[in-house]
Amino acid sequence: MALVRSISAGNFGCRAGLTLSCSKEDGGTLGMMTFSTSSACWAENTPYLTSLAWCMHVKCAEFDILNSKLELFWEQQATGQGNAGVKSDPPKWSYNEALANVTTPPTVQLNATSQYLNTISLVSPSVYLVQWNILTNTQRETVNENTYGISMLIAGVGTPILLTGLAYAPITSSLIRRLKPYLVWPSIIGTYQVRPLPFLLGNALTVGQSLYIAGFIFLNIIFTSINYQSRQPNAWYSTKWREIMAYVLWRTGALAYIIGPLVFLFAGRNNFLLWLTNWSHSTYIILHRWVARVFCLQALIHSILAVILEKEEGSYAASVKEKYWVWGIVATVAVVILTFSSGLWVRSFSYELFLLGHIVFSVILLVGCWYHATDLYHFLGGYQTWVTTMASLWSFDRVARVARVAMVGLRRAKVTELGDGGYIKITVRGIRWGSEPGKYVYVYFPTINPLRPWENHPFSVLPTALLQANHSGSSSVSDAATTPPAADVEKHDPLREQIKPVPHTDIGLTIYVKRSAGMTRSLSSNDSLPVLLEGPYSSNSNRDILRCDRVLLIAGGIGITGILPFLKNHWNIKLAWSVKESAKCLVDDLDGAMAQLASPDKDVRVGSRINVNQLLAEEITAGWERVGVVVSGPAELCHDVGKTQFEFEVEAYSW
Ligand SMILES: Cc1cc2nc3c(=O)[nH]c(=O)nc-3n(C[C@H](O)[C@H](O)[C@H](O)COP(=O)(O)OP(=O)(O)OC[C@H]3O[C@@H](n4cnc5c(N)ncnc54)[C@H](O)[C@@H]3O)c2cc1C
Repeated sequence: MALVRSISAGNFGCRAGLTLSCSKEDGGTLGMMTFSTSSACWAENTPYLTSLAWCMHVKCAEFDILNSKLELFWEQQATGQGNAGVKSDPPKWSYNEALANVTTPPTVQLNATSQYLNTISLVSPSVYLVQWNILTNTQRETVNENTYGISMLIAGVGTPILLTGLAYAPITSSLIRRLKPYLVWPSIIGTYQVRPLPFLLGNALTVGQSLYIAGFIFLNIIFTSINYQSRQPNAWYSTKWREIMAYVLWRTGALAYIIGPLVFLFAGRNNFLLWLTNWSHSTYIILHRWVARVFCLQALIHSILAVILEKEEGSYAASVKEKYWVWGIVATVAVVILTFSSGLWVRSFSYELFLLGHIVFSVILLVGCWYHATDLYHFLGGYQTWVTTMASLWSFDRVARVARVAMVGLRRAKVTELGDGGYIKITVRGIRWGSEPGKYVYVYFPTINPLRPWENHPFSVLPTALLQANHSGSSSVSDAATTPPAADVEKHDPLREQIKPVPHTDIGLTIYVKRSAGMTRSLSSNDSLPVLLEGPYSSNSNRDILRCDRVLLIAGGIGITGILPFLKNHWNIKLAWSVKESAKCLVDDLDGAMAQLASPDKDVRVGSRINVNQLLAEEITAGWERVGVVVSGPAELCHDVGKTQFEFEVEAYSW
């Protein structure tokens, strides 16, 4: 390429290049480089083709390059940047044909001020050197950018997979289990386990989450800082300082592009890592925020360096008018807005506004990234691959959401207001999602707010059958009624038909909602409210909890819905649940589900608090080898339990 540039660019400052006999004023344009010579002109110009072929023959000899590679280069780059996806005219000769047309070695020597190429010539050694220096160093830097960026991508995706594998591998699983209480569960900021930081600054991280994030930031700092090299003299940058600054500028931009897919992957409800690992959706959402902040920082450094460099080079005024520059600004502004408009205070102020803004600015970001790269390099460097990956991950998530909704179809919900405390029970019949703990669903009520039919909210789901005091009995009645035993098929007994019990109607799912200030405020009793359900999703992997000898369930208020399914999934449960007086209706309504537990394994308190420390102490004294604790409820409760050394899981109703 240094040869092509040596001939086509001609000298230091002049990108217009040497003039051929067929050159015109209005040659083709590629990004920042304007050519006064068109591809067709190069393709048919004998002095150019023979000079280039001779130059390649001489200069490439020392590198022992295969003839096929030289031909490939010739086809792709001799008359334009085919490697960047730019359509160019094929040269009239192949490389070998052009070389064969060099009857005598050239003697005319171009120099840095040469303007015309009228006969076969030798490139100017000084021009060749400066082009060689910048182009080989650019190539080197491109390899570094991609190596470092892809390494971070692999580390970002690979860490959860690796740690999950270690947690399940026989040799390491017990070590990981012993480390969990110290690394995975405790918060790094005092009592802020689940509850928000003061002034809604955000949510505190657990030690495990902060280790991942610290590692990711560390990798970014290292990979942004190492392995720069200056090669002067240089055709593009007159000082070492500017040259290195340019490499940092390129690297920060490239790293932002490459880690972009992580940002989109972690945000998805249908993030494939949720299926491959035992990390929870709320953890991925937290990682999404932090990786996005790193992405934003890289983009900001990139943009600031671009301004400084262009000003130093004196090309700022011209650059700001370029399309690639404008799209770069658009993308940078979008990512800054996305980062700062996603704070907890915005989400608490209006979650729907946050979501809408997030979607709009994410689209702007993707479009900005695409055109920034395309206008600058066309398809050279493969930046569009990362934009396409981001868009694909996002689209996959959206399509999967629609598919989940479509699989369930439009249903009718029975909505019942329970008492005056703002508690609502929603029952949707005919859905069989099993009774595994930790399931939740996004619920759409398209008729509640017809202007925003897409609005949906996550709620824990309970199999309706679980709520019946005698649900096991009624299930068997149902089974008997709907599927007679094979042996009885031929015995037609009219008497038996007469006494056949009516099939029970408790197949379906139930959701309990505590009214809040948004969509849930509009919910009121209704026997047939249209509803769409997107799910089921799993909040946490409960595998380790369910393998404990004893499971202690601690719930506060509406948090009971997240842990109730454990009652049907473990043989040795203790449940402690406290509610305010206003939630007495909830206790009454769930009486049936609670019936299977008897005191002392059931401690339900109305109007008084649970003594978490005492509960934990009791379990320790009881001498169980492995105790699992699941907590679901107010943030303070989660924190108290978070100090435990047991297997621990939080069902936090927020992210
Ligand atoms: C996994 C999970 C399970 C949940 N299960 C239950 C449950 O069983 N019963 C129950 O009463 N509540 C549950 N919640 C909380 C419930 O989702 C919110 O209370 C509900 O979305 C509030 O709706 P709203 O429009 O009235 O909220 P608003 O009053 O507008 O917002 C209140 C808060 O709810 C949260 N929120 C609002 N919309 C969303 C959303 N689309 N996604 C995530 N969070 C949101 C935000 O933190 C917001 O600050 C659960 C939350 C999660 C994340």
